[in-house]
Amino acid sequence: MEPVQTPGGTTVLVGKNRNPLAVLFFSVITFGIYWLYWYYTVNDEVRRHEPEVACSPGVALLAQFVPIANFVSHYNTATRIQRMELADGASQTISPLVTFLLLYFLIIGYVVQIQSHLNAHWDSHRLAIVRAERQGLLGARPAALTRAQGAEMPSERRLGEAPVQQP
Ligand SMILES: [Zn+2]
Repeated sequence: MEPVQTPGGTTVLVGKNRNPLAVLFFSVITFGIYWLYWYYTVNDEVRRHEPEVACSPGVALLAQFVPIANFVSHYNTATRIQRMELADGASQTISPLVTFLLLYFLIIGYVVQIQSHLNAHWDSHRLAIVRAERQGLLGARPAALTRAQGAEMPSERRLGEAPVQQP
């Protein structure tokens, strides 16, 4: 996980973006080993990103080997992502029921739904700080961002200058 600064000045840990189809591909060629790794990791990412969301990745992993408990865990993973999204005021959240049904009618849908919601959430955090920087909401700019925006600076300054008075 990588630390990302928030516009409020704090730092949050955001997870890794993954291609859902790559997750499926690796799960198939490793006969499910990668699935277990992915399932543990996404739960761990949610737990570390949003400590308010109660989550035990180890229990979620163990539940994969217990009939019925695995169904409950699959549903709960989606509800944890929904709580994480709601905690940040997201207007559109994952639907745990739809996600759960997707797992049993079409496994592909579950991975796509879970991983694409996570990808969008991690990106929203990365973009929030970039947007705040652009709008000049922050006083101290990190050196990397100042360099990256160097090309835009002259035009911003020109906009602030008083217009030349024409006679
Ligand atoms: Zn968040």
